[in-house]
Amino acid sequence: MSHPQDEPAPEGVPEGATAGPATRAVALRRRLEQAAHEYYVLDRPTLPDAEYDRLFRELQALERDHPELRDADSPTRKVGAAVGEGHLAKHTHLVPMASLDNAFDETEIAEWEQRLVKLIGDGVAAHGYCCELKIDGAAVSLTYRDGTLVTAATRGNGTVGEDVTANARTIADIPRHLEGDGWPPVIEIRGEVYMTFDGFERMNAERARAGEEVFANPRNSAAGALRQKDPRETAKKPLRYFGYAFAVPGTAALPFRTQWELLETLAGWGIPVAPHRRACATLADVHAWARELETTLRPTLPFAIDGGVVKVNQLTLQAELGVVGGRVPRWAIARKFAPDIAETTLLDVEVQVGRTGALTPRAVLAPVEVGGATINFATLHNFELVAEKDLRIGDTVQVKRAGEVIPQILGPVPGRRTGGERIVSTPTHCPACGTAAVRDEEEVASYCPNVACPGRRLEALAHFTSRDAMDIRGLSYQRLEQLIAAGLVQDAGDLYALTADRVASLERFAEKSADALIAAIDASKAQPLTRLLNAIGIRHVGAESAKLLARSFGTMDALAAASVEELEALHGIGRTMAEAVHGWFRDPVAQALLAKFRAAGLRMDEPRAAAADGAFKGLKVVLTGTLPTLSRQQASEAIENAGGKVTSSVSKATDFVVAGEEAGSKLEKAQQLGIPVIDEAELKARLGL
Ligand code: NAD
Repeated sequence: MSHPQDEPAPEGVPEGATAGPATRAVALRRRLEQAAHEYYVLDRPTLPDAEYDRLFRELQALERDHPELRDADSPTRKVGAAVGEGHLAKHTHLVPMASLDNAFDETEIAEWEQRLVKLIGDGVAAHGYCCELKIDGAAVSLTYRDGTLVTAATRGNGTVGEDVTANARTIADIPRHLEGDGWPPVIEIRGEVYMTFDGFERMNAERARAGEEVFANPRNSAAGALRQKDPRETAKKPLRYFGYAFAVPGTAALPFRTQWELLETLAGWGIPVAPHRRACATLADVHAWARELETTLRPTLPFAIDGGVVKVNQLTLQAELGVVGGRVPRWAIARKFAPDIAETTLLDVEVQVGRTGALTPRAVLAPVEVGGATINFATLHNFELVAEKDLRIGDTVQVKRAGEVIPQILGPVPGRRTGGERIVSTPTHCPACGTAAVRDEEEVASYCPNVACPGRRLEALAHFTSRDAMDIRGLSYQRLEQLIAAGLVQDAGDLYALTADRVASLERFAEKSADALIAAIDASKAQPLTRLLNAIGIRHVGAESAKLLARSFGTMDALAAASVEELEALHGIGRTMAEAVHGWFRDPVAQALLAKFRAAGLRMDEPRAAAADGAFKGLKVVLTGTLPTLSRQQASEAIENAGGKVTSSVSKATDFVVAGEEAGSKLEKAQQLGIPVIDEAELKARLGL
């Protein structure tokens, strides 16, 4: 971070203030104010949130260390941004709307508790906390008079917001009339208007089709949709609402004592309340909840959160603690997570040819760190999606990665366009063999129709030999390319005709590695039908359906003889897959491949007997973390073959957990519930591997 110490002090630097920090404070305030306007008023931010937060904290620290620089007008003393002179009327909230202070780690949460204890004693800890999701949307206050919705308004600068009543009335989650009873005559319900990831994608696709500017992420999209001029436009947008608080002007006797009860009451009045809240007795519970939220829950949520909110549960204590400077309540704190969304540049869109010939786009990104990993590429699925997201080469894009989820591009940041961005065109030819691409309307994809395409062959072979398929070690992409180029291998069947001598004659293939490769190929002949079916890559058949087919039919011959109806009768196999399987066995190319497998002596059946009375008969097992040698699929298969069942979450019914490296919350849960935990070595020993 450069500190422009050499610049002349700009206007607004207080007299007597040290030039360096004063100049910096002014520069920071300007930047933050501009960013807040772009973010809150225009819904078109140009600064990443994490960068905004960092600059905000820098300014807070400067103002703390240099009291002479404090300024009542600083963004650190304000909520949001003043509303502009737009098309929406202004609305003054009966009770001001605050923002939240942030804690970025467990230490900062602990410091917050210490501040509370200093103010009101140990009682805080004794009464516990109510922990909630921090929904990443736009804050909206709903005023109900005698139970009827009269106004909906954005937060604005906390005191004056924009009147969005007509638009809010189109949101199905927001009730026109409160249900039940017991509500005060006038009440302002506070909550967040948000959009699900699905809804956001749909809306952006529609905007791109209509030639309108797309939104970078669901938050901007929700805020933009909420502030439309025409409510009929808002009505078309997939907006949702969660309530989390309310305010009552003056004093009113309320029928509950805690934040937890408040949320339950809101739900009882028909206001949707976010899931996954937790009442925590101690700070240790709060930390455990936040960890679980960040690592396990966040990747599965259908909407964006930017953290959790920890609130003092007892409402009388909340009232006692009050609000600091009208900006943030003392009794609540946002536990912000490392962002799972980052910004970077879309350098290029590559075309990849898959094993079925599908030509798919892949985003090449300027390397960026997000969700604890550096990302260089992101999947784009198909070219229609690129158009739907209005992605252009050279765009600044928002990339999301959470947990183990494959990185994806949420959308471009239109505010950062320079005009030099390039539209991505659908490929007309296969990049590997140059054959004219064919368009498959039904599947929104372009295909390379050339069955002899080296690109397709390479992908097909890479899949066939991969760890979760036939598991033939020692065949990198590079080596497969060499075998194809030398004319030794055209399809997977040819692998079984290779000899050590022929392989060793290739460049960079030492005799030893040639022997090892042939041994690995030989060993793969004994792989069960499940793996072979997955490996041969019948369209629509993945690892799970391969397992189902192999277990149901037992042998390749029985499967080959099955009719479409017999296949479709299996639970989990639809018409498309049934037709694909049936068709595959009737294709002469496939029949030639099977003939090669047969000649080479591949096992083409499924071991059935083991499961019934195997070593793990009836046991429920959970896998977590990375095991040293076995993949997830291999471990699951071995357990299932021994009669066990692999389940995804730990409960009292779990018999034991197999934990590898970086095991997370499942391991913790097992320890809490006292469920036995074993490692891979022990698992192998029990399985007799
Ligand atoms: P905030 O988003 O950090 O937290 C306060 C808000 O959280 C509340 O007003 C409420 O709307 C919301 N919230 C969600 N769930 C809640 C719950 N369960 N209980 C209580 N409140 C809940 O504060 P802010 O003032 O709205 O925004 C500041 C943040 O906005 C910054 O940290 C930054 O990330 C982002 N921002 C970004 C830019 C930019 O240029 N990128 C500019 C301004 C602000």
